[in-house]
Amino acid sequence: MKTIFGPVPSRRLGFSLGVDIIPYKTCSFDCIYCELGKTDSKTIEPVEVIHPETVLTELERVLSASPLTLDFVTVSGSGEPTLHPLLGVIIQEIKKMVSVPVALLTNGSLLFKDEVLERVQAADVVLPSLDAPDRDVFQTVNRPHPSLTFDQLIDGLIKLGKSKGPRIWLEVLLLRGINDTPKQIETFGQYIKKINPEKIHLNTVIRPPVENYAAPLSDERMNEIQKNWGPRAEIISVPAQDKVQSKSGLQESKICDLVARRPCTAEDIAQCLGLSIEETVPLINRLIQAKKITHELFNRQGFYRGI
Ligand code: SF4
Repeated sequence: MKTIFGPVPSRRLGFSLGVDIIPYKTCSFDCIYCELGKTDSKTIEPVEVIHPETVLTELERVLSASPLTLDFVTVSGSGEPTLHPLLGVIIQEIKKMVSVPVALLTNGSLLFKDEVLERVQAADVVLPSLDAPDRDVFQTVNRPHPSLTFDQLIDGLIKLGKSKGPRIWLEVLLLRGINDTPKQIETFGQYIKKINPEKIHLNTVIRPPVENYAAPLSDERMNEIQKNWGPRAEIISVPAQDKVQSKSGLQESKICDLVARRPCTAEDIAQCLGLSIEETVPLINRLIQAKKITHELFNRQGFYRGI
């Protein structure tokens, strides 16, 4: 099984190299909107079909084959990656091999378990999901393993929000007529407040779902909800290619303008762009590779300047 894919332009993570650690399609959910197809193996038991050594050896081969310009390495799976009992070890080993942040995509269903919460702490960013504002919608949308409850999901997400480790970017996927009424949006908002993520990624159906009744919201409704949830909310349901290219292209041209005026450190650039240092460094690296800016040392500090 191929365990490394990409890098691909991702709607949320820029140019991301994917690390797939769970066999198709092993998951604790069987979501009606899933783009991967129906869940074959619905489970909450740890699975270790893919050995960490297999993943890490392939990653090493891909990284050494050609220089890659990456924004993130993203651990995911053709299912739910927190089912892998050695997830924490895999993330730690990946972090030794790359200089970019490591992100983890999860449905969040198992975070209520201490050992799973522990496994995800090594990631720089965790992107969990919340698609339901109540128990009934949880059953309708996520079709979870029979032993999982909505209360456990919320409990795990709140615990994750309180943990000191990774940054939390919460995804909420909205479906027309299922989880998008004003009352439901208000209830989502109350849970989001308790989870307290750094960002809220507002999504809807943009690729063929498992069930054809899983329908997207209009752009207008998505915009209304984004305004309702405030500045942390960002709509991510736009074509990946367009968004990544236009956003990073715009940021790169801002960096060129900035360093053409005066030499700047990476921290100066991050501050001017309102980005984190992790988001800024990949943009700088791309510009250096493209020979659009240069790097020099002065007083033991690195500066970037225009050419
Ligand atoms: S949690 Fe993700 S992989 Fe699992 S069924 Fe839902 S969308 Fe598909």
